[in-house]
Amino acid sequence: MGIATIDPTTGKTLKTFEPLTDSEIESKLALADATFKQYRKTTMAQRSQWLNKAADILEKDYRKFAELMTLEMGKPIKGAIAEAKKCALVCRYYAENAPEFLKDVPAATDASRSFVRYQPLGVILAVMPWNFPFWQVFRFAAPALMAGNVGILKHASNVPQCALAIEVILKAAGFPEGAFQTFLIGASQVEAVMSDDRVKAGTLTGSEPAGASLASTAGKNIKKTVLELGGSDPFIVLGSADIEAAATTAVTARMLNNGQSCIAAKRFILVDSVADRFEQLLVEKFQALKVGDPMSEDTDIGPLATPGILQDIDQQVQETVTKGAKVLVGGHAYSDRSGNFYPPTILKDIPVDSPGYSDEFFGPVALLFRVKDIDEAIELANSTIFGLGASGWTNDPTEKERLVEEIEAGCVFINGLVKSDPRLPFGGIKRSGYGRELSIQGIQEFVNVKTIWIK
Ligand code: NAP
Repeated sequence: MGIATIDPTTGKTLKTFEPLTDSEIESKLALADATFKQYRKTTMAQRSQWLNKAADILEKDYRKFAELMTLEMGKPIKGAIAEAKKCALVCRYYAENAPEFLKDVPAATDASRSFVRYQPLGVILAVMPWNFPFWQVFRFAAPALMAGNVGILKHASNVPQCALAIEVILKAAGFPEGAFQTFLIGASQVEAVMSDDRVKAGTLTGSEPAGASLASTAGKNIKKTVLELGGSDPFIVLGSADIEAAATTAVTARMLNNGQSCIAAKRFILVDSVADRFEQLLVEKFQALKVGDPMSEDTDIGPLATPGILQDIDQQVQETVTKGAKVLVGGHAYSDRSGNFYPPTILKDIPVDSPGYSDEFFGPVALLFRVKDIDEAIELANSTIFGLGASGWTNDPTEKERLVEEIEAGCVFINGLVKSDPRLPFGGIKRSGYGRELSIQGIQEFVNVKTIWIK
């Protein structure tokens, strides 16, 4: 796929971009490297001021940025507005807290004075996905810039205007030329950039093959990576749960961003005693969702980001149904509609040998499973290659503790949907990746943890 803005609602190509040439990449890398040498000497107070200015810009022009996101990847405008505002939040969060997170940490040893100092690494490459085209980038950029690193962004090829807008915001906020640059390049150009000596580390949010590719290039060059990859999060509803609240949250947890979220609830694991009621509520709520123009404020579900994603999700649904799953709602791509729309869909009785049992479903499709008790629920929840997030619904203290302790995931939310929050670390285990973003753990990923010992 070339680098282009293609409206997912109409399929029209609105703008195309030429990927950078090798010599353009070279001059941008040289700029990043030269900038780092100066930028690392700037004070935390100065960086905070720039980052707060970026937050001001995001808060002032949130509507413009939201419309750009919706135009390029089809998320409903309500969600895009929330995303732009959340980016301002993460900027303010790190502007305020980074000095504390990165201050010297004394240690008592045989030295007269010993301590840990956190120092920047240099140029960091961020390879980012289209699904949260602003948020994914800001949650990398805010801590990286506060730590004194400089960033280069290879964004997904279908959101080039978002990628360019982010560079403009950070420059307008006052960050020096070269502190954050967008590289409009294709995936095949990433290896050369990651291998370049001036690039010190990399982070990728996206699919498993892309993550493996970046990590192997980084590994060959002994460079650190953080990977935020796919997920197939369980949403477990146990006997003592508030079923109405669980079903209402389930809709948001599955449908946010047209179902294209790594931490969307994808597998609904229901104990027998509540399964019928939950299923009935979920069907009613899915049927009430409004599918349509993502620019319209009352739209719940817009088009999927690309025709390829539409094709993939439909194929996964058809294969799962052919293997024996039952369709409760939706189940087929629209035959009378242009754009990448897919109807809210619920499948149940998912066979073990079908995609619904093992694959990530990146679209508005809920997969329902029934289990006897909490033991079976935990076993099924963990029977996946992924380990990103999990949501558990129960009012029993013992059950809460068992979910917290026994679920294999980077986070567990009880009686709420899985979400990212600047104040909490975010990331996965197993094939969902490694490393953490956000909070203190996020800013400490790309620093030299330098031990100082003075006699
Ligand atoms: P993707 O195809 O892996 O794309 C993500 C980024 O990687 C894009 O910038 C893409 O560039 C680039 N890329 C693709 N192949 C590459 C390669 N071989 N080497 C280097 N870069 C490569 O992912 P996607 O389908 O757009 O995104 C959906 C996936 O991301 C889902 O699995 C979702 O769960 C996951 N995700 C995870 C998180 C998390 O925080 N854990 C958050 C959001 C999404 P091009 O666009 O040019 O191909």
